[in-house]
Amino acid sequence: MTAQSLGGREVAARLRADAAATAATMTAGGITPRLAVVVATRDESAAWYVRTLSTAAARLGIEADVRELSPDASAAEIWAVLAALSADEAVHGAVLQAPVPPGLALAELASAIGPGKDVDGANPLSLGRVLAGLPAFAPATAQAVLELLDYHNVELDGRRAVVVGRSLVVGKPVSLLLLARNATVTVCHSHTADLADVTRSADVLVVAAGRPGLITAAHVKPGAVVVDVGTNAAADGSLIGDVEAASVAGVAAGLSPVPGGVGPVTTARLLLNAVTAAATSGANPG
Ligand code: NAP
Repeated sequence: MTAQSLGGREVAARLRADAAATAATMTAGGITPRLAVVVATRDESAAWYVRTLSTAAARLGIEADVRELSPDASAAEIWAVLAALSADEAVHGAVLQAPVPPGLALAELASAIGPGKDVDGANPLSLGRVLAGLPAFAPATAQAVLELLDYHNVELDGRRAVVVGRSLVVGKPVSLLLLARNATVTVCHSHTADLADVTRSADVLVVAAGRPGLITAAHVKPGAVVVDVGTNAAADGSLIGDVEAASVAGVAAGLSPVPGGVGPVTTARLLLNAVTAAATSGANPG
């Protein structure tokens, strides 16, 4: 068996087209969607991501307002900037770029972003609303996993889904979204005993551990669909996932590539969320 490649570029293009169309209509009506990005780090990959996001936003007709703070900024400073952006009617979405300064908790700081503008689902209130089935933005990466599965017509209802990773940005929200789609969900983490035994039960396996090569053919049930969320720098500087693609492709029915899988969908989804927030500003959630 050679797994079908569950690519994300076409999915991302569709989402971007939706975002651009709504942004154009709004701008013609006198309101340009504006996304604020607060950065309090000198991390190089974060800087690269923010540049990519800003360029992509501009192409879609979204204004990206990047606020650079010191990598030593205090919780109070970051909170004040996010709270001011959240209260600003001209700002429709706000995100706090990871990582935050040492000792600070991103989820705590992101609580300053009202759920209606929390376009990357970083405020724990947003996650609570997702849990309760109320309108809210889930983290864009988690949404991207579902977009990818839907685009490639992967059935979820009644299937066994296993998520490797339990972070607030990926693992936990993905598990909630899969549960909401009637999958039977198991979440694994670094204390899971016999990981392969659990992952081999999956019809749909979502991997977000940040550990290159963690998932091999021995972890995958023949015919399963595998979504690789991991993005890790290889020794040669290239981007690799958490899944050993060469061996898993021989067992799985579908496998998302890295790069070109979840990554582009995440950026597109975040920008579409910003436009959606602009189009519905003043309405719930938040
Ligand atoms: P994270 O906060 O470090 O969380 C990693 C999770 O994986 C934790 O829950 C951890 O368990 C679990 N884990 C680590 N080693 C494991 C092992 N050997 N077996 C089982 N579980 C293990 O990372 P994250 O922010 O969720 O990101 C995960 C990956 O996704 C990273 O590679 C990141 O770069 C990538 N990512 C990609 C996108 C995208 O758009 N493509 C977006 C966000 C993140 P514990 O909880 O027990 O520590």
